[in-house]
Order: sequence, then structure tokens, then C-alpha cells
Amino acid sequence: MLTLEPRLCPICGTNAHADVKYPERFDAAALDDFAFASRKLPEYMHWQLRRCRACDLLFADPAPTPAELGRLYREAAFDSGREAGLAARTYGRYLRPIAAGLAHRSGALDIGTGDGEFLRELIACGFTDVRGVEPSTAPIAAAAADVRPLIRQGLFEPGGYAADSLSLVSCFQTIEHLSDPLALTREMHRILRPGGAAFLIGHDRTAPSARLLGERSPIFDIEHLQLFSPRSLTALLRAAGFQRVTIRPIVNRYPLAYWLRLFPAPAAVKAALLDRLGRGRLGKLVLPLPAGNLAAVGWKA
Ligand SMILES: [Zn+2]
Repeated sequence: MLTLEPRLCPICGTNAHADVKYPERFDAAALDDFAFASRKLPEYMHWQLRRCRACDLLFADPAPTPAELGRLYREAAFDSGREAGLAARTYGRYLRPIAAGLAHRSGALDIGTGDGEFLRELIACGFTDVRGVEPSTAPIAAAAADVRPLIRQGLFEPGGYAADSLSLVSCFQTIEHLSDPLALTREMHRILRPGGAAFLIGHDRTAPSARLLGERSPIFDIEHLQLFSPRSLTALLRAAGFQRVTIRPIVNRYPLAYWLRLFPAPAAVKAALLDRLGRGRLGKLVLPLPAGNLAAVGWKA
């Protein structure tokens, strides 16, 4: 059974401005290893969530301990190679204007790199000394032979990389999962050389899709210890020391079958539809849609 511990707002460090916004929705029996895979059928469970009025952040309090999360992620299943590749291609399009603003393209690190598909985008964009770090075993095992040697298994921890050593540090769809997202962004800042850039992608809890679906949105998930808005993601990067922070919405390109998996519908109906789509050409049709993700870029002075 999971052990929960109390938590403060991970940006401002107090609960003085934080009220309970959503009571806990949790079913221990439904928690299986698939629940902690990076992409999976939503299960409509979440921790008790507070909203910090000062930071505009929604965060879990109480939440599982970092040790418990580390164990769960190491054991997580992974079944979404094709979608990971499509996401990497989407993020690659947002990478090019950032790379154009860098004085150097030597040294790039992708935190929570999964099967390392984005490393290929970094190399294609002209970066040298490209590396990824990933805590889970399954996505690394699924990585293509050319990028697997670039991935180190483990957590991104303070002191793992030299100060002022990298041109770009990216971290996609991970910032929601961390016990201490400010510690991660501060460490990103420390290891970047002056003029380097941090590139984050996360969910926007204020996006139209999230507002429409409310607690039925797949972003309400026990994997997520916080949910950002443009304002709170900006606050996080500024608190870590970044300047010239810019935020823009991402247009994702996924197959119809993947969009359907994210859509709230009775499990039996969804399973039947997915089964049909899985066998036909329609399910493989790639559709560009704004799925409620934000791209955030911050620069080190
Ligand atoms: Zn706060």
C-alpha cells in the first residue's frame, strides 16, 4: 500500500495561499502497474488537490513519497512506441526556433527521455553530445538501437552533470510527476551554460479541453502531483532563475485511436471502438489537435 505524506506548494513553499480544490478520488484496487506507464487508459483517479492562489498551481497534498514514486516508475509498463515517436516529431518542430537562438549546440540532455525518440530530433537539429536520462526499464528496452546507447537509466538528480556545461536541457510530460519540480528546474538552470535554454512541455489545466472535461480530463491522474497553467509554469521557471520565459500551446499529432483512448467514455464502449479501429486504417489516421499541452522556454542569463 502507498504511503502518503503532507506537501506544501512546490513553487512558493507554503500552504498559506492554498485551498483544497478537489477532494481525493482514489481506488486502491484499481492501481496496477499500467497506471504508472507514461501513456495509458485514464482511470479517473487523483490525489487531494489544492490550488495555490499565489502561484496558480494545482498540487497534490498529501502525496506519495519520492521513494514510492521511484519504485512505481521503475516498474511501470510501456506500450506506446508509435505515439512516443509522433510526440517527438511534434516537439522537434518546436525545437528549431529555440536552437536558432542558441550560440552553441554542444551538449543537450533530455530528462525523462522514455524510448529516446526526441534524442533523434536533437541530433537532426545539429546538437552534439546528446544524452537522455530515464528512470523506467521498459521504455529503454523499447528504444531503437541507434539511440539506446545515449540513454542512462536513473533519476535526474542534483550533481549528476557539471555546472554550466549544456546548451539545451529538455523535459517533456514529466514536470507534473515530480515531488519537487522546483528542484528539477533549478538543477536544469545550474547545468546550462549562460545563454542556454530549458525546454519544458506539460499539460495546461486551463486549456479548453481541460475546462470542458473537468475532473473527467485525463490530466486528473494519480501520476500527477501538480498541474500547471501558463501562469504557474512561468512562475516555476522564474523561481528557478530563468529569464525571458515564453509559453505557447502545442498542437499534437496523434492517431485517431490514441485520441479515442484519452476521451472519456464507458470502458466497454471504448474497448469495442478501439478494437475496430485497431484493425482498420481509420485508427491509424494522424490528426493534429491542440490537446492542452504547453511548451515553455526559459533562458539562462
Ligand atoms: Zn504557491
